[in-house]
Amino acid sequence: MDTRIILPQSEIPRAWYNPLPDLPTPLAPPLDPETKEPLTPEKLEPIFPRALIEQEMSGEREIAIPEEVRNTYSLWRPTPLVRAKRLEEAIGSKSRIYYKDESVSPTGSHKPNTAVAQAYFNKAAGISRLATETGAGQWGAALAFASRMLGLDCTVYMVRVSFEQKPYRRILIRTYDGEVHPSPSEHTKTGAEMLRQDPECKGSLGLAISEAVEDAAMNGDANYSLGSVLNHVLLHQTVMGLETKKQLEMAGQNPDYVIGCVGGGSNFAGMMLPFLPDKLEGKPINFVAAEPKACPTLTKGDFRYDYGDMTKLTPLIKMYTLGHSFMPPPIHSGGLRYHGGAPIMCNLVREGLVQAKSYFQEECFEAARLFQATEGYLPAPETSHAIKSAIDTAKQAEPGSNVVFLYSGHGLLDLAAYDAYLRSELGNYELPGESIEQALQSCPDVE
Ligand SMILES: *Cc1c(COP(=O)(O)O)cnc(C)c1O
Repeated sequence: MDTRIILPQSEIPRAWYNPLPDLPTPLAPPLDPETKEPLTPEKLEPIFPRALIEQEMSGEREIAIPEEVRNTYSLWRPTPLVRAKRLEEAIGSKSRIYYKDESVSPTGSHKPNTAVAQAYFNKAAGISRLATETGAGQWGAALAFASRMLGLDCTVYMVRVSFEQKPYRRILIRTYDGEVHPSPSEHTKTGAEMLRQDPECKGSLGLAISEAVEDAAMNGDANYSLGSVLNHVLLHQTVMGLETKKQLEMAGQNPDYVIGCVGGGSNFAGMMLPFLPDKLEGKPINFVAAEPKACPTLTKGDFRYDYGDMTKLTPLIKMYTLGHSFMPPPIHSGGLRYHGGAPIMCNLVREGLVQAKSYFQEECFEAARLFQATEGYLPAPETSHAIKSAIDTAKQAEPGSNVVFLYSGHGLLDLAAYDAYLRSELGNYELPGESIEQALQSCPDVE
């Protein structure tokens, strides 16, 4: 039996799946941060192209993937679905474990799936440059790659502490001709003001978002681009789940568990959403979202309106949140340190259609090492949460079950994290209840 299930390029999906018309309860509308009234689409036009704003609110179940996007996807798509047989044997599993391998993209994660689509719709709207923020650099690298492929310029505001301590993704962005500024920078009013107050400021993701949004809003040729959380980002990521569905059909299997790690929710949702209609029709599929105990948004957060960023620039969105003032402990899974989550995913957790689980950093690194020892590949620290969850699930599942997880990225640019693990310098952080309560007090009083 084949362990690698490969689709031909003709099977790259022709339409993304939009879950909005299928959600059992509709999403609460995003609110204008000033008026606290539902946000009007015009408010978003200074920073997003109309096509993406329409996707954000669309009632169409299928949205066509433009040929130029499919063509760029074909550089690495369809990605393999792999049966992790050696991992199964190592843990004595009576279930099958499959993983959808998104680490084979040019920048090594799932993020280019939306970066390419966003670059395309911005270019079609006459935009010549994209501005964005990046923490550890995965999203900045993906957008720089996509911009290079579609002939756009790309400006990345990278949190200064990562800019200095994690040079490799910054260099990767430069090799795609992207411009990278450590944030805070002198290129925006927000950044310059911050540097005047504190010339040594190491930056934060919230500050970098403020700089990128200001850049896009002040310059007519530029738009802003976000790598997770928004509905249109999750929409673009559904190529992963749509391909997986076909691959499981080829293998003659139905999924019993679909698992992914959660930062903002885009890789998990992109994998599970195409299976949602099956679950709503009564098929017994379990969706499991795996998050760090150090940033337990879905398992310990409140479901309420909050800002998407620390500086309260974004619309208010209804989601599970730890409070926008929440400062996550310094874990190595940089991509999972977000105080909130995608509204679509949070809605499904709220409805009981998605189950959330949280894990300690060390048990995830151990799972990553077992995966490497059996399947040969070194996962991103973020991905290790999905692996840990898949291993636990496979051990407990009914014999003969199919456990499918999303392998969101490789760990070859995260070797410093593995170095810390090998030196036993990782530590386990679990967020104390008091610090969650404290951060939640920063949420606005909006029903
Ligand atoms: C960014 C990232 C994540 C987390 O982001 P989501 O939007 O939750 O998918 C997970 N894994 C990898 C490899 C990433 O780069």
